[in-house]
Amino acid sequence: MAQVQGFLPLITGSFSSPAHDNPTVEIMEAAFRAGGVHARYLNCDVPAERLSGAVAGAVAQGWRGFNCSLPHKVAVMDLLDRLTDAASLIGAVNCVRIDDNELVGDNTDGRGFVASLREISDVPGSRVVVFGAGGAARAIAVELALAGAGSIEIVCRREEQGTAVAESVRRAAPRTVVGVTPWVHDFSVGSGIDVVVNATSVGLGDASARLAVDVGSLNSSMVVADVIPNPARTRFLREAAEAGCRTLDGRGMLVNQAAIAVHWWLGIQPDTTAMRARLDEVI
Ligand code: NDP
Repeated sequence: MAQVQGFLPLITGSFSSPAHDNPTVEIMEAAFRAGGVHARYLNCDVPAERLSGAVAGAVAQGWRGFNCSLPHKVAVMDLLDRLTDAASLIGAVNCVRIDDNELVGDNTDGRGFVASLREISDVPGSRVVVFGAGGAARAIAVELALAGAGSIEIVCRREEQGTAVAESVRRAAPRTVVGVTPWVHDFSVGSGIDVVVNATSVGLGDASARLAVDVGSLNSSMVVADVIPNPARTRFLREAAEAGCRTLDGRGMLVNQAAIAVHWWLGIQPDTTAMRARLDEVI
């Protein structure tokens, strides 16, 4: 565990833009309070052209590490010394650790999702449909494959994006069967599917936004998950719950990826109950 020296806090934080609507600072500081750790998490609005300066500043000031969110998840990779296997496979970094001036980049989004899915469902052998082929979809698909998912179908509007995600999945876990389906009309989910994931941005900040899915094709044997943390009860999850599905909202993913980062930076097992309670208070 990282040692605290007198009045000097351990410093961590986040670089993104915009940053004002990112609740991660509240979850992180709840973890530090609950763990009795003298640490701070600074939520910084850093525009794209200032990222290299912000990273150099973090190193100069002795930060333990930082998160990166939009628009820096890919650009930050050029500023790092090393990537974890997950970050290499996913092709994006959301978490950096500073080890004696060496910058190591990881991607914890997908592991955060898988950790929350495991709380309600078994992953090995599962048949999964993922909507979307952006950064979150790729992180989730890669980590589901590494966790032993049997098959993953990527459903997306831009086929070339879906193909790129499928290639990452094949590199991660050649035994997972992966396919890409163009998303043109309401998608009908096959009856043999175990887990359905909305990994698009549909629903962010809009509880009435509709995902183009035939909700009549959902059934009670399915787990339906959404990456959107705010509002947590998206229209897609509300309709899935009405269809009898077990549902998982984006708050669990957010808390779990933050917990993975705290452990990686500071060597403590954070109290995820306190983190989740604080998130529920602030959003
Ligand atoms: P990207 O911009 O990389 O990808 C967004 C994806 O959503 C693209 O595939 C895009 O398709 C698709 N999409 C957007 N609108 C529609 C639509 N109307 N119909 C179909 N597909 C659509 O974003 P990210 O992957 O980084 O993030 C996606 C969401 O995940 C965000 O809302 C973010 O808040 C959330 N997220 C949540 C996390 C958590 O911890 N809970 C962590 C990380 C992200 P196209 O390219 O065709 O536009």
